[in-house]
Amino acid sequence: MDLQLTDEQQMAQKVAAEFAKNEVLPKAAEIDHNHRHPRELVARMGELGFMGIAIPEQYGGAGLDTVSYVLVLEEISRACASTGVILSVNNSLVCDPIYKFGNEEQKQKWLTPLAQGRLLGCFALSEPEAGSDAAAQKTIARPAKGPSGEDGFVINGVKNWITNGPVADVCVLFCMADPPGRDSGHKAITSFILPMNTPGVRTGPPDKKLGIRGSQSCQIFLDDVFLPKSLLLGEVGQGFKVAMATLDGGRIGIAAQALGIGRAAYEDAGRYALERKTFGQPIANHQSIQWKLADMATEIDAARLLTLRAATQKDRGVRHSKESAMAKLFASEVANRAAKEGVQIFGGNGFVEDFPAERHYRDAKITEIYEGTSEIQRLVIASAILKE
Ligand SMILES: Cc1cc2nc3c(=O)[nH]c(=O)nc-3n(C[C@H](O)[C@H](O)[C@H](O)COP(=O)(O)OP(=O)(O)OC[C@H]3O[C@@H](n4cnc5c(N)ncnc54)[C@H](O)[C@@H]3O)c2cc1C
Repeated sequence: MDLQLTDEQQMAQKVAAEFAKNEVLPKAAEIDHNHRHPRELVARMGELGFMGIAIPEQYGGAGLDTVSYVLVLEEISRACASTGVILSVNNSLVCDPIYKFGNEEQKQKWLTPLAQGRLLGCFALSEPEAGSDAAAQKTIARPAKGPSGEDGFVINGVKNWITNGPVADVCVLFCMADPPGRDSGHKAITSFILPMNTPGVRTGPPDKKLGIRGSQSCQIFLDDVFLPKSLLLGEVGQGFKVAMATLDGGRIGIAAQALGIGRAAYEDAGRYALERKTFGQPIANHQSIQWKLADMATEIDAARLLTLRAATQKDRGVRHSKESAMAKLFASEVANRAAKEGVQIFGGNGFVEDFPAERHYRDAKITEIYEGTSEIQRLVIASAILKE
């Protein structure tokens, strides 16, 4: 694997690092404390070309690659994991499937403003009874005629934990299509582009979360929502393929988010260890603290290598389900270990809001859960390696 970053990738990383340090980091504690959607930072990320990093310029994107996306997302998540996931959902879970599976008209109408940051997207696969078992969809799309006689679908159901749900303009939505006689199970799953202002769409109150509190998520209720056929994303019955291909890319994004959180925990703890004195010397002089920092640094580098490998595979257009699952599994567990040790290095100060360690600890946990839990990543990896 060639680890030499191109000039373009280095430039994307540099711009993101400066933005993260100067504009995101100073607000991260306040965003978390107030559970605030950082609307102004999302607008700035649009201006910087970060809302559609790997989308071609002709569709409003930055025209960069997945490696650049990973580098940008790590920098932003290092400053604020909430801002990181807002970016990750828009890029990986909304722009990417519309680019891959959308038709030209959909790309012009929806992808371009999403990639430019003029619209914000969300991705609604999970339901109260369909999380890890994503194919157990209960949301139903039935063929129907629209108000002016056009062909389409009427959709009913509930979606759960939808990141960006309360603030999104557009949703990539999954449901079970229900024409009589069709296959059931994952072969009936169908995806749509859902404008969030469609009559019958209602969002619940924002979820009250342990971490990533600046990222708003909620339930979405769909009551007799009519969508014309022109909003089908791909074909009827292709939705499971859309979802799985999207999550293969999305998991690389969550690995990058986890890397950012792990790095924040490590860098903040390292700085603190040099300042805090016990028994007449900085705690960094105690071997037990040094070992913690050494393990954190080593594991974060290993996680980054796995993440860049998965991103490189995606950029080469080769199958990357296993590599993405490995990167997400490892990076999320590394982030949690780093965040736990970070709190320990801060001692009592690690347990209070005045210092960032407890935020990293709370933010890290979600990376082991969304876009497939660690258990599900192990299933994906096992199924791939047993076939090799
Ligand atoms: C903050 C947040 C944001 C989210 N954002 C989104 C979003 O934007 N869009 C979206 O669609 N979803 C989103 N989700 C949903 C998320 O992807 C699911 O919560 C996740 O996939 C797990 O599903 P579940 O919660 O139903 O857990 P369950 O599937 O009920 O799993 C419960 C436990 O059982 C384990 N388990 C389940 N099946 C197996 C198995 N076969 N073998 C071994 N262990 C198993 C799981 O690993 C887990 O530990 C979000 C969730 C949260 C909390």
